[in-house]
Amino acid sequence: IFQADPIEINPDSSLRYYDKLSHMSNANLMDYISMKTNHLAKSIYVQSKSYDELVLLAKQNENRLQNLPAIQPVMNKDLRRLASGYGYRVDPIYHVKRFHAGMDFAAPSGTDIYATGNGKVSFAGWQQGYGMCVIINHGSNYETLYAHQSKILVHQGQSVKRGEVIGLVGNTGKSTAPHLHYEVRLKGQPQDPRNYYLLDLTPEQYDEMIRLSENSGNVLD
Ligand SMILES: [Zn+2]
Repeated sequence: IFQADPIEINPDSSLRYYDKLSHMSNANLMDYISMKTNHLAKSIYVQSKSYDELVLLAKQNENRLQNLPAIQPVMNKDLRRLASGYGYRVDPIYHVKRFHAGMDFAAPSGTDIYATGNGKVSFAGWQQGYGMCVIINHGSNYETLYAHQSKILVHQGQSVKRGEVIGLVGNTGKSTAPHLHYEVRLKGQPQDPRNYYLLDLTPEQYDEMIRLSENSGNVLD
């Protein structure tokens, strides 16, 4: 398929093949055909087995893709809500450079917060610094965290789908203004969330988002 070479048809060899068959007795011919058929049936069986496996793999991958965080956690079409990115930033309270493990989205209190991939709520409640906070387990060692909420709309153990509203933006915990602090974690280690907005950004928006998130002045924590 795709880039494979076309099958070469050699008229000479197929002529010789039929020539050979025409010299066989009927009994020999039947034997020969049944042997060939058997062989063909076996290879069809093997092929269909491996096809089943492929379908299964594709299905599993599809589930995995639905679970992975792949959208922005708040409506942010013009990207104006991006306040600060991931990496070393000046702490808004202590004014020293400090590692910022997530991305800050400035938004009015009460703005909807979306689950960024399918998963199960593994934490919903108050956490030191993060205030009212939700953590979603997406499987494949992925988690996302949504901090400083004014209201949590899910409970621990609940299954959520990508795009489902899980809470509202707020200013709880260590926060200088209403915003959503969003983290993506792989095996417990924070990842740069910029790499997890595959589904809702065009290439141009992606470049713009990269540019905006480089700004280091506006961390809201
Ligand atoms: Zn933050």
